[in-house]
Amino acid sequence: MTAATLPREPRRFRMYIDGRFTDGSGTAVMTRSSPGHGVPVAQWPSGSAEDAQAAIGAARTAFDRGPWPRLSAGERAKVLFKVADLIERHADELGLIECLETGKPITQARGEIRGAVDVWRFAAGAARSMAGETLNNLGERVLALVLREPIGVIGVITPWNFPFFILAERLPFILAAGCTAVVKPAEATSGTTLRLAELLHEAGLPQGVVNVVSGRGSVVGQVLLDSDRVDMVSVTGSTATGRKAIAASAGNIKKLGLELGGKNPHLVFADANLDDAADGVAFGMAFNAGQCCVGGSRLVVQRSVMDAFVARLAEKLQRVRVGDPLDERTQVGALFDGAHMDKVLSYIDGGVKAGARLVCGGGRTGSREGFFVAPTLLTDVPAGTPLLHEEIFGPVLAVLPFDSDEEAVAIANDTEFGLSASIWTSDLTRALRAMREVQAGRVWVNTTLDNGPETPLGGMKQSGLGRDAGLAGIEEYTEVKTAHINLQPRTHWVS
Ligand code: NAD
Repeated sequence: MTAATLPREPRRFRMYIDGRFTDGSGTAVMTRSSPGHGVPVAQWPSGSAEDAQAAIGAARTAFDRGPWPRLSAGERAKVLFKVADLIERHADELGLIECLETGKPITQARGEIRGAVDVWRFAAGAARSMAGETLNNLGERVLALVLREPIGVIGVITPWNFPFFILAERLPFILAAGCTAVVKPAEATSGTTLRLAELLHEAGLPQGVVNVVSGRGSVVGQVLLDSDRVDMVSVTGSTATGRKAIAASAGNIKKLGLELGGKNPHLVFADANLDDAADGVAFGMAFNAGQCCVGGSRLVVQRSVMDAFVARLAEKLQRVRVGDPLDERTQVGALFDGAHMDKVLSYIDGGVKAGARLVCGGGRTGSREGFFVAPTLLTDVPAGTPLLHEEIFGPVLAVLPFDSDEEAVAIANDTEFGLSASIWTSDLTRALRAMREVQAGRVWVNTTLDNGPETPLGGMKQSGLGRDAGLAGIEEYTEVKTAHINLQPRTHWVS
């Protein structure tokens, strides 16, 4: 592996429509600067509504008339395994693109690419396990079959925080089910998705099965939401974008998969291994600079251990290595861009002005070319302060004390979101009780942010609809059809 460095000039990517690489119908270009270094690193076309329509047309033809949905699952799996091998072969290159465009540390970016290989392989294998049901218990006259069929053309809209990994949690499952797709990556981090299109092409995916159109959400994304020729849209992004998807789907009743925001609690009980818990909470809040939908942003801690725990946690947070994403020793890189950094800082300032106590962090750190924020811990945050309720998407943690188990769960559930929760205790019964009562799609006990392609993911409440990954991740992209088959001579209705 060679040391990762900044490119001399921005890397140029093209879109992928109907099996061809293209700059699209317009001339507008988007340029991304590394949020850790402030230099341009990548460029791609800003796709137009016409480009989006052309991609939908290609995906439609590939679904309605092409070979992909008609292949056996085993034949589809062969192609998906090839894609996984190609991603693995190019993992360092993809990791560098991801690091430069997102600002995440290079070691983490490479890890995410390798993790994505594993997900592609899981989905490839799982493709062959998809089956329906036979109902042989409806009496001697009828045999019923329940078939699972691919839904059709899927629009896939992804965010900037884990561009390649989040796509891996959706696209191979979509393909395993036999669907075709139009992918719209986030405006600022489209490089690895556009590079993936080249690898899909090399793997021999038939023409039009996957199309990638870079560009604005309000242009390309909106066309996907509005189109009658798209059967389902999967949106991973903010709850505000999820609402736009729901509004658009009212016009055409298309299925939606929504993976949205979170305001996730860590519940730390007094009987927990407090060293482990402090380390886990630090990791959960600061990983990916806090720009992690399932990262913890509220520390719900038992009052009897609060002061000691907060001191231990603050000591750890101050030792987290924040800085140059290209440095192999860096643990936390840059925030996504200057506007986002300012928003994160304004939540912290707002909290302090309202009377919260800043325990550590609270401002910028590292080089001024990059958007780095020190991991920040706040106690005594007055009720109603926005940082307690809104998704900040930065390395900021608010402390909320509790006295009883019931109160801990009530505080954890006091949010419109329901994405994840982490429970820290050495009492198994307490852990299981809290695990059952907490309203979240993903719960961790004495750990946080563990993930694997076998386990489904998604949110409750306003954190989303539907599930991705696991076997549920393939079912999500299928329709259920039932068939009743008469096995007896017909008794006539009109005699
Ligand atoms: P965002 O909602 O701003 O953008 C997400 C995607 O939606 C982008 O590709 C964007 O271009 C597109 N988009 C925006 N407006 C659109 C429109 N009108 N029509 C169609 N598409 C449109 O989110 P973001 O800032 O990129 O990502 C951060 C958010 O994503 C956070 O809220 C985070 O919690 C959430 N997220 C959720 C999960 C999950 O699994 N639940 C995972 C990662 C991120």
